[in-house]
Amino acid sequence: MFLALAGGVGGAKLASGLANVLPAGELVIAVNTGDDFEHVGLHVAPDLDSVMYALAGLNDTVRGWGLAGESWRFLDALKRLGGADWFMLGDQDLATHVERSWRLRGGATLSAVTAHFCAALRITQTMVPMSDDPVRTMVDTDLGLLPFQDYFVRHRCAPTLKGLRFDGVETARISDGLRAALDNPALEGIIICPSNPLLSILPILSLPGMRDALTARRVPCVAVSPLIGGKAVKGPAAKNMTELGLPTTPDGIADFYTGLIDGLVIDPEDAPPTRAGLAVESTPTLMRDADDRARLARATLAFTRSLVRPA
Ligand code: GDP
Ligand code: CA
Repeated sequence: MFLALAGGVGGAKLASGLANVLPAGELVIAVNTGDDFEHVGLHVAPDLDSVMYALAGLNDTVRGWGLAGESWRFLDALKRLGGADWFMLGDQDLATHVERSWRLRGGATLSAVTAHFCAALRITQTMVPMSDDPVRTMVDTDLGLLPFQDYFVRHRCAPTLKGLRFDGVETARISDGLRAALDNPALEGIIICPSNPLLSILPILSLPGMRDALTARRVPCVAVSPLIGGKAVKGPAAKNMTELGLPTTPDGIADFYTGLIDGLVIDPEDAPPTRAGLAVESTPTLMRDADDRARLARATLAFTRSLVRPA
């Protein structure tokens, strides 16, 4: 079996490719929860939902996020009442947040709710939150310290990033599902999806014990670059890397994941990293449709399997 680490929409593309090409039950996807927040009394978990909708085949591929066939009557009515309309809540999506919040309020863990949703949506791979304990990404910017969604949605990532803080992470425990995957004797490899390294993957790596688990890995770990031609396909990954002094190249990605990866998948538009000892697979990484996702998933799996960790 394989373990994938993912953020939201970008990570979900490769995660759904991996989910489709691997036999059922052979993939565990651990998802960032640093973006989670309380909104109009509900627990919203944007990255878990992005991955879940993609795995269920319910995601809107044209808009690029949320559910296909979504409608917005709830949000219109909320606006009419003077409610918070800066965060888009679709009518169908709302059911996810209501049902999740309701179950959490009844004492269920986020892992239990996630497992329940995946079963209800007939998802045949395992998706788990990185942790059941609250971790909240805080973005330090030239406008001050902003909660993640304020930075991402309200300010559209315009403020200059100065640093990141993950509130709660010091005492957050790796979820049982992620821990079990890391410790599973049948684990063949770990894949870091092409998610934003700073906003989506760093929260996962910041959980106590996570870096140690990856450093001590006995199986190969491979990252897929979220950059093509030095630019992010979507979102602020390149801007964030530049702001924190990382070049927006495979070298920048390799530096960021130093000690954690054995191989890096890059697009042919980018020059291979110069770092010694890092295996590189150059293959088109743009995922426009299901065929692209399956092709990149197969290439990434074959590359990972070809790398052997010294005993
Ligand atoms: P978010 O949490 O919804 O912002 O999503 P992620 O952090 O998981 O993914 C965002 C990253 O996905 C961005 O840096 C994009 O460059 C990257 N991305 C999106 N689509 C693709 C794609 O088709 N190929 C590659 N290589 N990266 C992609
Ligand atoms: Ca996210």
